[in-house]
Order: sequence, then structure tokens, then C-alpha cells
Amino acid sequence: MSSDALSNLMSENRRFEPPAEFAAAANAQADLYDHAAKDRLAFWAEQADALSWEQKWDTVLDWSGAPVAKWFVGGKLNVAYNCVDRHVEAGHGSQVAFHWEGEPGDTRTITYSDLQREVSKAANALIALGVKTGDRVCIYMPMIPETVVAMLACARIGAPHSVVFGGFSADALASRVQDADARVIITADGGYRRGAPAVLKPAVDEAVAKCPDVRNVLVVRRTGQDVAWTEGRDVWWHDVVDSASDQHTPEAFDSEHPLYLLYTSGTTGKPKGILHTTGGYLTQCAYTHKYVFDIKPESDVYWCTADVGWVTGHSYIVYGPLANRATSVMYEGTPDTPHQGRWWEVAEKYGVTILYTAPTAIRTFMKWGDDIPAKFDLSKIRLLGSVGENINPEAWIWYRRVIGGDKAPIVDTWWQTETGAIMISPLPGVTATKPGSAMRPLPGIGADVVDDNAKPVPNGHGGYMVLTEPWPSMLRGIWGDPERFKETYWSRFEGLYFAGDGAKKDDDGDVWLLGRVDDVMNVSGHRISTTEVESALVSHEKVAEAAVVGATDATTGQGIVAFVILRSSAGDGGADVVAELRAHVAKEIGPIAKPRQIMVVPELPKTRSGKIMRRLLRDVAENRDIGDVTTLADSSVMNLISEKLPSAA
Ligand code: ATP
Ligand code: MG
Repeated sequence: MSSDALSNLMSENRRFEPPAEFAAAANAQADLYDHAAKDRLAFWAEQADALSWEQKWDTVLDWSGAPVAKWFVGGKLNVAYNCVDRHVEAGHGSQVAFHWEGEPGDTRTITYSDLQREVSKAANALIALGVKTGDRVCIYMPMIPETVVAMLACARIGAPHSVVFGGFSADALASRVQDADARVIITADGGYRRGAPAVLKPAVDEAVAKCPDVRNVLVVRRTGQDVAWTEGRDVWWHDVVDSASDQHTPEAFDSEHPLYLLYTSGTTGKPKGILHTTGGYLTQCAYTHKYVFDIKPESDVYWCTADVGWVTGHSYIVYGPLANRATSVMYEGTPDTPHQGRWWEVAEKYGVTILYTAPTAIRTFMKWGDDIPAKFDLSKIRLLGSVGENINPEAWIWYRRVIGGDKAPIVDTWWQTETGAIMISPLPGVTATKPGSAMRPLPGIGADVVDDNAKPVPNGHGGYMVLTEPWPSMLRGIWGDPERFKETYWSRFEGLYFAGDGAKKDDDGDVWLLGRVDDVMNVSGHRISTTEVESALVSHEKVAEAAVVGATDATTGQGIVAFVILRSSAGDGGADVVAELRAHVAKEIGPIAKPRQIMVVPELPKTRSGKIMRRLLRDVAENRDIGDVTTLADSSVMNLISEKLPSAA
């Protein structure tokens, strides 16, 4: 039996050096690591200095109340001022902040001056609605510019926002509104999804029926659909915001003033309301966005495809890019509307240079075929990012070759809602990357892989991914539940933040994330990561996506059960494909990892943020009733999969 927390099965020998030209001009140079290591807190103070503070801090870090940190103690600043006004004051008002593209093809161009006016008006309108510093405001919106304006307006007046993803149901919205005790909800009549207007306001009406404390619902008109109206409670954005004054003087708030709460995606269970604060959060968002995405405000067009409803949207559509005065693309709709090349059409149209997306999207594009992106000019793309799940090495290679013109560096960024900003990632221009590895903790970040006794594992071994030092954008708690905060993150290992993910260090000490430790399989005493078996399956030319779970097995403890989606070009599968895939896994990682069972399925169950929900597949594999599906993007997927069961190999 292996003494490792995780067996270390796959090996990857491909390396990609950054192009010399990229390296020469990169924001990050190799000495950044040493510089940060010399004096970590001084390093973070330098990063904070890139922001504009109305009052400078006295202490960089106060960890005396661990595990609740205070960063830049005594400092005061306004997040909206940092993201908008100071760029206008510095003469960049006419620079585009967002090239916005609606799904039906309508567009809007929003400059930093526009943003300053709109945010000021919205801030004045919220104040007129009685919103005070410290009040929570819920935002339930499609991907339109007003969503960003609403977030910044809240930040500007010190009212923490709670953005709830627009695809969530009335029930999910109601429970989040109640948990946050929000009195005002900002929403829209609807938004465009898959070629048609999708409604939002009815879900708000249904939710508010269960939230008697909600005073006002502020509604943006986006689709022009008919909406039910409650006089006195509902107000149109165009009535109260458009008529408000565009002058508003931002007040500076304490560095630890709450900026927002945001619920995790619910991949592993009931979502947690994660609290983020002001100074440290913005510092780390701006720092990571500058170095990991190598942002050049004068020349780059940056596109993060996440929904604003997820932390990626908060940190890398709104706060990081705007703090750095980036020009961004924001797109409202789905990638296949009206055709499967829509993203690439958008990228070509705006001359996107940096693209940040998720493995689930990349694997979907792989499935659709190379010929679709090939129809568009993607030659300006110089850097690619990935976040949300492990990126399988073959998906990584595809992304680089087909989207990145075989030259763009890829930054595989590991972080969580809880960490607030990127923690582990290559530095483009510095790191020679390995497909599938997030590589190293960023300069200033303390992270390690430890064994059951909290001892760092030697190179070549697997274990638990932990964070060893407090970091500026760390969560300050779970909203309303300090005990759950300690219990969830700080109880497994004394003094270490345990993120829930497994990882290994390779022979060079580079980090490979291996999925949730709850998903790790135990096959005849070997602890095998679902990620590695999935990556082996995806490395087969016929496979587009794979999800692997361990199911109880009388002989081996657990048996490996795989669910695969085939590529469009692979035909419909059958017994020989299954045999071929089992043999392929045995060849790639060894007979121990050969799946007991492989099922070819049309879809996989995913959360609304696009992550595979393995716990539901485990229910299927073990013939149990399927658990909570409320955070599932499409619950009919589980029926499609269950129908496949009798014919399983
Ligand atoms: P919940 O905590 O409610 O179960 P969640 O963990 O999916 O939901 P998020 O905070 O959105 O919610 O996701 C963070 C998780 O996503 C990480 O813990 C990790 O499992 C996964 N993840 C994010 N980026 C990467 C990456 N680059 N490589 C591997 N895994 C990643
Ligand atoms: Mg999580």
C-alpha cells in the first residue's frame, strides 16, 4: 500500500518555454520570486502602493485574530475610485473600459468617463433609495454593462454586494437574499440566452414573496419583455438612475470594510457565503491581473469569458482589470449562438489579445472541431488563461495550438472563491510551462502540498493542497457563520488553510492539482485521482470529455467508473470504443487505473459554472437516488445518463 496521500501516476514530459519576444517585454521577470521571498510583507505593501489610498495603512498584516486576517490596517480607500475615477483624472477618460457585445449582436462601447458618470448616477440613485454604507445589495443580472455599474456603485457607497448568478432559480435567489439580509435587489427584465430573451424579473418576484424585508427592486430594461410590477417596491433603472446626478464624491472606507459576499458554486454541497473586504482584496486582484495576464493597458484587449456571477467575474472582469485600466470585452450570451464560432468572431472583431476561460469551454470547442475557430483571425491572441477545473493536458495542447497559434503561453490559474484571487499559476514570460500543471505559487503566496500529518511531501509525491501564509485577498469568513469558517478551512491541519483539493509535486517541485480530495478513489489500496484517469481518457483522440468516479466494489474497495463524451468525429461509440478506451488508460497510466466500467454519455452533469459534479455520477454508479441537483445547470442531463445505464459496459 502506498504511503502517499495520492498515487502519482501520470507523467508529462512536454515543456513550453515562453517566446523570447514575450519574455523580453513581460511585466513579470524572474527576479519577482526572489524579491517577494526576501520580505513578503514589504512585497505586498509595494503591490498595495499601486493603488490610490486616501489614508495609508500603519500595519501591513495583523494576524493576531487568526484565522481572520486584517491587511493594510488603518488604511482607507475607495474601490470604485481606484477602478474608475483615478484613470479619468489621469487623462484616460476616453479609453474604452468595455467593448460590450449583446447576444443578438447589439453593441455598446463604454469608456472610463462613461463608467464614471454611470457609476456616480447609480450610486446617487441607491442612496436615494435609502441604501446606506454597510447595507447588503443583491444583484441578479444578465451580462450587461449595468451589472458592472451596479457592483461599482455599491462599492462606491460601501454597500457590500451579493451577486447571484442570473441562471439561478427563484429559490436559490431567495435563500441567498435571506442569508445576506439584503433590502434592495438590482435586476433586469431579462437577458438574451441561446437566441431568445430569458426572463429574470419573475424569479425575483417569486423570491421576494419569501423575503418580506426587501424594500425595493431596481429593474434594468434589457429585453423589453412585459413584467409584473409592484408599485412602490419596483423602480425602473432608467427612471431613477438616468435622472440622478452624475456627480458623486466617493468616500474612503476602511481597508477591512466588507466589499462583497459571494456564494461558492456548490460543486461539493451547500454553497457558502464568502466574505471579501476592501484593501487586500483589490491589491491582490490588481497584482495578479497585472503579472499573470501581463496586461498592457495601452495595447491589450482582454476578455474573461466568465459570468459576473462567479468569483472569476468579480476579480477578473470587474475589480482586477478595472484597477489596472484594462480594455475588456464583455459578451452577454452563449458560445453557440447564433453559431458555434461566435466567440472567435467576437475575438476577431475586437482584436482580443488575452483570453481567460474555463476547461469546460475548451473541451466543448474541441468536441465541435478545429475547423470552427480556423475560420476566424485569432492572430492577435498572445496569452491564454484557464480556471475553474483541472485542464487536461490534451485540452491544454489543443487550446495552445488551435486558439493560441501554437505560441501563446497558457496560464493555468488555481484559486477559489475563498482565495479571492489567483494563488498558483505560471508567470507568462518567465515560466516554462507543462501542460496540465499550475506550476508554482505566485510570488508572495505561501502554498504547499502536505501529507496526512501536515508535513510537506517530497517532490514526486501527492497530498493535500494547503496555503501556509495569510494572503491579502483571503476570505474574512463565511457570512454569519464564524464557526463554519474555522471548521471548514482551518480544522484539518493546525495553522494551515486547507482548500479541499488534492495535488502532487512532480520531480521538479511543480504543482499538479488533482481534484477534490473527496473525489479521490481508493482502488486496492491505491489512492488514485479522478483527474489523472480523466486526463488519460481525454488524451484519446475519440474523447472530448470524461468524468471519473470511484464506486463501491466488493473486491477492490472502489472500482473506477468513467463517463465519456465522444468527439463529433468519433461516431456513436459501442463496445469496441469502450474496450479501446480501457486499454488506452491501462497503457497511459497502468493497469491499476483501468476503468471497471465506461459509459458513453451525451452530456455530463455540471454546475452552473461549468464544473463536473462527480458526486451525482457517484450516485449513478452506485445505483443510489441522485442527491441535491439544485446547483446543476441542466437537471435533465441526469435522466439522459440514467437511461444509458442498462447498456453500460
Ligand atoms: P463549493 O466550494 O461550493 O463546492 P467550488 O469549489 O466549485 O464550489 P469555486 O470557489 O468556484 O467553488 O471553485 C474553486 C475550486 O475550483 C477549487 O477548489 C478547485 O477544486 C477548482 N479549480 C479552480 N481552478 C482550478 C485549476 N486551475 N486547476 C484545478 N482546479 C481548479
Ligand atoms: Mg470549493
